[in-house]
Amino acid sequence: MKLEVFDIPDEGVEIEIEETPKIDGVKITQAFKAILRIEKKGVEVFVKGIVSGEVELQCSRCLREYTMPIKTLVEVTYHPIEELNKEELMELKRDEMDIDFYRDGLIDTADIIRDQILLNIPMKPLCSENCKGLCPVCGTDLNESECGCVVKEIDPRMAVLQTLLRRMKTNG
Ligand SMILES: [Zn+2]
Ligand SMILES: [Zn+2]
Repeated sequence: MKLEVFDIPDEGVEIEIEETPKIDGVKITQAFKAILRIEKKGVEVFVKGIVSGEVELQCSRCLREYTMPIKTLVEVTYHPIEELNKEELMELKRDEMDIDFYRDGLIDTADIIRDQILLNIPMKPLCSENCKGLCPVCGTDLNESECGCVVKEIDPRMAVLQTLLRRMKTNG
């Protein structure tokens, strides 16, 4: 949905929307919902509300797909990008996290939701805290079965020796 900034009434407005933004590497199986309160003061637009939905992510350890619910508060101030010069733009970006820009008098509500999804997705998605991942030798999903492979790890005593050796080299 595209919000016309010009049409936002002086007393503000509350909207309920559903959006399925396209995001690379993120599957959205059901539209995200949002209840937003929109207000404006001059050319500034204030958006406040709740965004909720579900995304399907791939676990970074075992590569299985899993569902992660997202429910988050939004609070963003929009500025018209055309009315700012470069320095003002840099300053706004540096000063405040919750600032965004609109162009041609339009705010795309799908972008609001997309940003919230991106902010809430972990860098390394995990299907569960205790996910055992895949065996580095044979690729078996260790959550499902054990494969009996021997994974070589450096003996901690050897590690101490290696550090000593390295120190001797750098000192000599
Ligand atoms: Zn996993
Ligand atoms: Zn294995």
